Amino acid sequence: MDKEYDYGKLRGVGSISYRALEKARELVKEGAGRLKVAQELESFFRGNGYEMAFPVNISVNETAAHFSPGLEDTYKFSAKDIVKIDLGARKDVYLSDCAITIDLSGSNGKLVEASEEALEAAISKVRAGREVREIGREIEAVAKNKGAKPIKNLGGHGISRDELHSRIFIPNYDNGDNEKLEEGEVIAIEPFMTDGYGAVEEGSEVQIFEKKDDVAPRSQEAREVFSHIQKNYLTYPFAFSWLQKEFSSLGEFKLRRALNELAMLGGLELYPVLIEKKSGMVAQTEKELIVTKDSCEVVTK
Ligand code: MN
Ligand code: MN
Repeated sequence: MDKEYDYGKLRGVGSISYRALEKARELVKEGAGRLKVAQELESFFRGNGYEMAFPVNISVNETAAHFSPGLEDTYKFSAKDIVKIDLGARKDVYLSDCAITIDLSGSNGKLVEASEEALEAAISKVRAGREVREIGREIEAVAKNKGAKPIKNLGGHGISRDELHSRIFIPNYDNGDNEKLEEGEVIAIEPFMTDGYGAVEEGSEVQIFEKKDDVAPRSQEAREVFSHIQKNYLTYPFAFSWLQKEFSSLGEFKLRRALNELAMLGGLELYPVLIEKKSGMVAQTEKELIVTKDSCEVVTK
């Protein structure tokens, strides 16, 4: 148990994030603009006095994660889409992380159900001392029962102050890892389900970044961009679109060039979009919770 840790603040970021997901359910409709939805969710957080723990991810169909629309994005949701909304608020060092899937197609209900039921089954297993492989086994069993495949190279994780992915990995199948959950530990569980291969690979597009080492870029542009990143985003993931807004005079090309320079120097971590290996449809559900002695407390509610 971290005595300095303020669980009250964690519940605060959890609850506002849950409300943002409810809002997303209203916003994601056939014909609605993907960028507009992302921006409205961002304003919702900021309007309520919260920062974002990471950019709002809106990943459609075979894209499983890490898509966040740039300002040039013109995509409108179609009646065939299955849409993952993954978001989280931040207050000081308290971070939240949760996700839902909205099936506009009406034909991927089975995947969404598999993901939602797997999450509930997994949560019912959580308690201090539980091995992470047992949680994974539970997720895998629901997947099998529903005729879906869990995505094996994605999973849940520990969340510490100022680190969205910390210590522990919670697999979406029994991976043999007998690492145990600890009392007071904050974790996110996120079963991804697909009708494809059951794994994701990196796409070429990168919309989400995070500051890594402190570097000294040569170009004036990269220096200005990096100083803004250091000051404003600290070590939390940020969206290309946020920089586009801040450096609108640079334009997309020069901004990308500055980010490339920073990445080459080791100043930036890149989070490329993650795409299902056989282009299968993907559903994801995620909740954040506190591990207790005998069970857990969900905070994104
Ligand atoms: Mn997430
Ligand atoms: Mn997560």
